[in-house]
Amino acid sequence: MTAPRCYITTTIPYVNARPHLGHALELVQADVLARYRRGRGERVRFQTGTDDNSLKNVLAAQAAGIAVQEFVDANASAFVALGGPLSLSVDDVIRTSTDPRHRVGVERLWRACAQAGDLYRKQYQGLYCVGCEQFYTTAELDDGRCAEHGTEPQRVAEENWFFRLSRYAGLLHDAIGSGGLRIEPAGRRNEVLGFIAGGLADFSVSRSTGRARGWGIPVPGDPDQVIYVWWDALGNYLTAPGYGTDDAGLRRWWTGADRRIHLVGKGVLRFHAVYWPAMLASAGLPLPTDIAVHDYLTVDGRKISKSSGHPVDPAALALRYGTDAVRWWLLREVPRIGDADFTIDRLIARANDDLANGLGNLINRTVTMTHHYRSGAVPTGLEPAPGSEQLTAALHEAPAAVDDALSDFDYRRATTAIWRIVEEANRYISAVQPWTLATAERNGDKQAGHELNAVLALLTAACRELGAALDPFLPDLAERIRSQCEANADGPLPPPKPIFRRIT
Ligand SMILES: [Zn+2]
Repeated sequence: MTAPRCYITTTIPYVNARPHLGHALELVQADVLARYRRGRGERVRFQTGTDDNSLKNVLAAQAAGIAVQEFVDANASAFVALGGPLSLSVDDVIRTSTDPRHRVGVERLWRACAQAGDLYRKQYQGLYCVGCEQFYTTAELDDGRCAEHGTEPQRVAEENWFFRLSRYAGLLHDAIGSGGLRIEPAGRRNEVLGFIAGGLADFSVSRSTGRARGWGIPVPGDPDQVIYVWWDALGNYLTAPGYGTDDAGLRRWWTGADRRIHLVGKGVLRFHAVYWPAMLASAGLPLPTDIAVHDYLTVDGRKISKSSGHPVDPAALALRYGTDAVRWWLLREVPRIGDADFTIDRLIARANDDLANGLGNLINRTVTMTHHYRSGAVPTGLEPAPGSEQLTAALHEAPAAVDDALSDFDYRRATTAIWRIVEEANRYISAVQPWTLATAERNGDKQAGHELNAVLALLTAACRELGAALDPFLPDLAERIRSQCEANADGPLPPPKPIFRRIT
């Protein structure tokens, strides 16, 4: 049997500013899925990138008085550079303005939809939010303003190319309703089904070159028009694996992949769950298999966005508090449903309580006791440890619980299952009191010595299991756990050394 192939993508953020913590959330979630599936033996492609062709980038560059390409390059490199501080196992990064694969593929996608009869020209008038890069109907606005940005959209009238979205309502409804295209959580699936049931209108997929300030990919055969930036950006999921440039790559990671998983924020759900699958269907390509939707982060109770002036730089955070602390907050505190509020105090408290105290103490005590009582050699070949049912159950149940949680894209539930091992192991140490067994053994109680062997063996097994289970979530910390709890060639464990330094 060949290993399943799984393609995992994040959205590609527009680069009108530097990255904020919300971007880190999606990247870290995708990284966990990629590492977990690789660990299971699957072939995985984890891809991210940047959306360079947005009009917002042009406006931000003009406001900064910098040439657009230079401005976009500088911000895009800050996104690409997150891989180091966040310990991301990214396989591919695509930049839509400079990657030679992208424009060719976007043009091919355009032609494929045109050949299917799904593109036509129409005179159009509408209300456009540049922040969203999207037209709105009056009914969709909040008192005349964009709900996302709080700004008044501009009235735009021009002749554009339109995509025949209306033709795909039945296909989308069936794909999503049957689970062939799975949208999680279920509330988001229902939201999309409701939107489809309300009727799908064709949407504009080009702009006049003038309004786009000449930035973007020209419409094939119509140089007065630029391809709508969302069409262009969504295309990255196909162009990076090779649509239009590398047929084998495309087969491997799109048409022939077992899973095509998009991670997206709630604000761009409609683009990914309605527009994008319809474009794929029009081009004769398979749809994504999974769309995993996350909600938003707030910082100190305020909306986090590049325009609100309240961003948190994830690279700076990781530099100051460590990669493990940042990843842990994102994975352990952010719920599957609902926004989560970030504060530095919460980041520190979570890291100190869990990583320094709960986990750090467990590892340190286990290794220290193994050195004190057995010269660092982990006992083997033993009877069951006394009174260890709860800990054994936690160890036994964690893998299936993690698997189940991650298949629902629930990172908090997954880390909770792993954390049960930490809690049960610490509780076990308090209950069984290995130091009492050691004293009895020294006073000639052989049975106490046997029991101490079993206790130390079980605790070491629990620590090793934690090193393995945490690997997708905290790869750096997991590596330190493994090097602390694994002996070299049956020799003694290395001397105890803290695996996580308390943040002060
Ligand atoms: Zn908007």
